[in-house]
Amino acid sequence: MKADSTMIKLQQIRKSYGNLEVLKGIDLSVERGKIVSIIGPSGSGKSTLLRSINMLEAISGGEIWLDGQQVNRPLKGRAFEKHINQIRQQMGMVFQQFNLFPHLTALQNITIGPIRLKGLSKKEAEDRGKMLLAKVGLSDKGNVFPARLSGGQKQRVAIARALAMQPKVMLFDEATSALDPELVDEVNLVMKQLASEHMTMLIVTHEMRFAAEVSDHVMFMDAGVVVEQGPPEEIFVTPREDRTKSFLRKHL
Ligand code: ADP
Ligand code: MG
Repeated sequence: MKADSTMIKLQQIRKSYGNLEVLKGIDLSVERGKIVSIIGPSGSGKSTLLRSINMLEAISGGEIWLDGQQVNRPLKGRAFEKHINQIRQQMGMVFQQFNLFPHLTALQNITIGPIRLKGLSKKEAEDRGKMLLAKVGLSDKGNVFPARLSGGQKQRVAIARALAMQPKVMLFDEATSALDPELVDEVNLVMKQLASEHMTMLIVTHEMRFAAEVSDHVMFMDAGVVVEQGPPEEIFVTPREDRTKSFLRKHL
């Protein structure tokens, strides 16, 4: 199953909360270095899908594969903890609400993971952290605490923090939804730069223009199913399904 070009493979993913089935058999393949966007109405299961890939949720059925390794495995106790940590280290996730550690500076937010989980020395982690702060345009903010940063700056620190673990893929869940409109572009720009460097990315977004611009592939979900997926030209310009057309009429 070590399919050289496939980074993420989802096969018939199902997830229920009690009697509510929120994912009803999702199939998706993300090739190495490609950008896939997931769009769809609120409540369609987009966040649950990303959280399942990152093992923040346990799926009820199906298979999740990351770079030839099975993510969902029937492990218990210590073996499960070890597996979950090993998998999470290979995926960077960026949330709508930043989730920075408030008591750590921007630089410390970025270095803590590599020091604790990857065994980097403080110096090595700081060198990498400073390089990443420069990459997201925040070289001068290393010693600043999150409370003193704007939303756009916080989100760029969150991206740098995820990148510091040198993940194989980046997962973005509505990374710009909580931002004031004038701060959206600075975060989108960083995401576009990552795309141009061939980072494999799975992006949940409500910004159709951004999705159309950066994506190699777009998946439209509604009510826990994939209604339609394909290249952005197809999904945004010549969608086939009525549900896709009606969603895009409201959101384009
Ligand atoms: P989206 O991200 O597309 O808006 P979500 O994945 O957040 O959708 O939610 C999909 C459905 O699952 C919604 O009906 C939501 O209410 C439900 N849901 C999400 N998380 C939970 C939970 N922890 N417990 C129960 N229901 C949940
Ligand atoms: Mg969501």
